[in-house]
Amino acid sequence: MRDPGKEADPVGSVLALQSRGDIKMAGEWLDGAGRARRQELVARAMALGAAFPEDWAEMEGRRLLKLAMARADGAQVRTNPIPRDESFVCVACGRDVPKGGRRPRDHCPHCLHSVHVDVVPGDRAADCAGLLVPVAIVASGKGAMIEYRCARCGAARRNRVLDDLAVPDDPAALRGLAR
Ligand SMILES: [Zn+2]
Ligand SMILES: [Zn+2]
Repeated sequence: MRDPGKEADPVGSVLALQSRGDIKMAGEWLDGAGRARRQELVARAMALGAAFPEDWAEMEGRRLLKLAMARADGAQVRTNPIPRDESFVCVACGRDVPKGGRRPRDHCPHCLHSVHVDVVPGDRAADCAGLLVPVAIVASGKGAMIEYRCARCGAARRNRVLDDLAVPDDPAALRGLAR
């Protein structure tokens, strides 16, 4: 790595360290950087989920960095949806599904089925890949939602009804589900 002292945001560059091999150099920089920098590092690492003992001010830079890098894994898992809009062939009905356009396509507009691939919408982090079977239409603050049950793992999911796209959700299919 480069000398953190030459970076515009030295604490940020140190927090972004990927290799533990870089800790020695960054630790030496931190030892010479003064209390304000150490305090900034601790505060920013704590915001990312790291924990420090109360006597952190007495610690050498390298130990502080190790604690900063051991930040809780959960802090790095994203919780906000990722707008991922892709065309696909529906595994339930076999029809071609174009991209949504104005909004990400997350289910088939013809038969309303989806696939259990996301933990958070768009992240493709679920390893189930079971068929999400539409079971009901429910009202919500975001408008009408399709309620799903995963045929493989039983997980419940909800997707917004997409009735305002170039290829909208099929009204007859929606009516059939609402009944
Ligand atoms: Zn389909
Ligand atoms: Zn599943």
